[in-house]
Amino acid sequence: MKLKLKPADLKAVEAHALKNFPRECCGMLFGKSSEDAIEVEEIVEAENVLGSPVAFEADPEFVFKAVDRAERSGFELVGVYHSHPNIHAYVSARDAEIMKLWPEVAWLILSVVKDRVLERKAYILKKNKVEELEIETR
Ligand SMILES: [Zn+2]
Repeated sequence: MKLKLKPADLKAVEAHALKNFPRECCGMLFGKSSEDAIEVEEIVEAENVLGSPVAFEADPEFVFKAVDRAERSGFELVGVYHSHPNIHAYVSARDAEIMKLWPEVAWLILSVVKDRVLERKAYILKKNKVEELEIETR
């Protein structure tokens, strides 16, 4: 399964991750998903209310409003993204817990150091199993 993003959107996510370094950033991905691909049409930056280097949380009301607005333009929440400052883009134990609350959506994780993005990985939780998604820009 693929996660398809517009190059400009991926760049914006990367810029957000670098701007927030050394804290984690987070945001939402909106678009459409089908059997074999998740297509992102819009990204929405959220504030990491924890301001933490090892965890993230978005304001639930902000998330609710963003989802509502996207749905009115015909998109659905197809993914979430966050950054991993100074560590690899793997699914942490904490991520795995939160993933259970957001199954069937893509999890885009960026590993960042001070001045650059080291890795981009995407995962999805399906039937209680974490699968890696192929990231494609279009
Ligand atoms: Zn994480």
